[in-house]
Amino acid sequence: MSRYNKPETIALHGGSHRADPTAGSVAVPIHQTTSFQFQDTGHAARLFGLAELGNIYTRIMNPTCDALETRIAAMEGGAAALAVGSGQAATTFCVMNLCEAGDNIVSSTDLYGGTWNLFANTLKQFGIEVRFVDPADPEAFARATDARTRAYYAETLPNPKLNVFPIAEVAAIGRRLGVPLIMDNTAAPIICRPFEHGAAIVMHSTTKWIGGHGTSIGGIVVDGGNFDWEAGGDRFPTLNRPDPSYHGAIWSQAAKPLGPIAYILRMRTCLLRDIGAPMAPFNAFMFLQGLETLPLRMERHCENAIKAAAWLKQHPKVTKVIHPSLAEGEMRRRAETYLKGGYGSLMGIELAGGKEAGQAFIEKLKMFYHVANIGDARSLAIHPATTTHSQLDEQEQAASGVTPGYVRLSIGIEHIDDIIADLEQALG
Ligand code: PLP
Repeated sequence: MSRYNKPETIALHGGSHRADPTAGSVAVPIHQTTSFQFQDTGHAARLFGLAELGNIYTRIMNPTCDALETRIAAMEGGAAALAVGSGQAATTFCVMNLCEAGDNIVSSTDLYGGTWNLFANTLKQFGIEVRFVDPADPEAFARATDARTRAYYAETLPNPKLNVFPIAEVAAIGRRLGVPLIMDNTAAPIICRPFEHGAAIVMHSTTKWIGGHGTSIGGIVVDGGNFDWEAGGDRFPTLNRPDPSYHGAIWSQAAKPLGPIAYILRMRTCLLRDIGAPMAPFNAFMFLQGLETLPLRMERHCENAIKAAAWLKQHPKVTKVIHPSLAEGEMRRRAETYLKGGYGSLMGIELAGGKEAGQAFIEKLKMFYHVANIGDARSLAIHPATTTHSQLDEQEQAASGVTPGYVRLSIGIEHIDDIIADLEQALG
């Protein structure tokens, strides 16, 4: 548990790092090393046998990554975290940590295109089925659940539809049926805390708002420490069955002396060990720099997005503006329930004139960068139908909310006057 409970303070002081014990460095040192010297053979044996936790090899843990992991776990209010090489690796690990061939998860249809591909195609190669359901109806998750359902998966603020996910509703269904909810909280750090609404696991592509400066690719998984894996029995074979790769350890029991961290412990000791994909220590350092100002940046991102959405809404060439600040009815209720202090900085607009108008608008932008990324301090734009979502067929694009004229904006922290001026000249 963090010593502090305010995000602004946790972002600077949360987690394991205070000052480096050898040199007193206040900034987290970059431990650019593959390996760590053991004190003696007994120490080495204890570390390998998990009788003592400590650094062995950077594929499995590293002190710079640990500083990031403990700080983000504190920020989300979770028990422990694991940093990996990308958001995609984080999602893959979230599923593989629970699923074997023949198992399934139930996922929201409202997903980042890369996650959609992973779920619809790549996981299938390993015999893992993903059942897609529309989150407009939370009970659809219950209907798709069977004895081999290992998890539910969703994004808090999924682009392109930007309909806030009904976290508490689906988490409650999951807890009734014994299924954990995994939330991708990439687009809503600080403004949404999924564990407070019953989620069991949170992941982030740290590439986005946490990094905030478009410099590094990374991902993180946070274990809420709030799900009873042992009570789930046969539903969680990877956690409740003796693991031959670790002398028959049963992770839900082996983790107990360390805290409620069976899920993340198994992910580190088995998946990270066997599959690799660790976060590089240098990238962990970059994410720590981003994290320190994240609460401040989120305030400005959110404030600018509300103003840009209101301005775009009254523009005659814009037929539709998609932003939670403009949502109505049930979607408005969800936005108000789950987002605090802002509505995020992703936005969708539809232009009269469809695909050609969308592409022409992007070509004309001068300050906005035309890139695949989101969550940078700079304002960004892209045309999803021909880029991020182009590997989906038309039906899949429609299901995930991508229409031909849709343009995605990620509003940055520049002065709002300059943001609006660029939008205005590009629309003109
Ligand atoms: N989740 C969301 C919501 C994303 O937007 C992205 C990337 O755009 C990812 C996951 C994947 O993250 P990464 O690009 O770090 O692999």
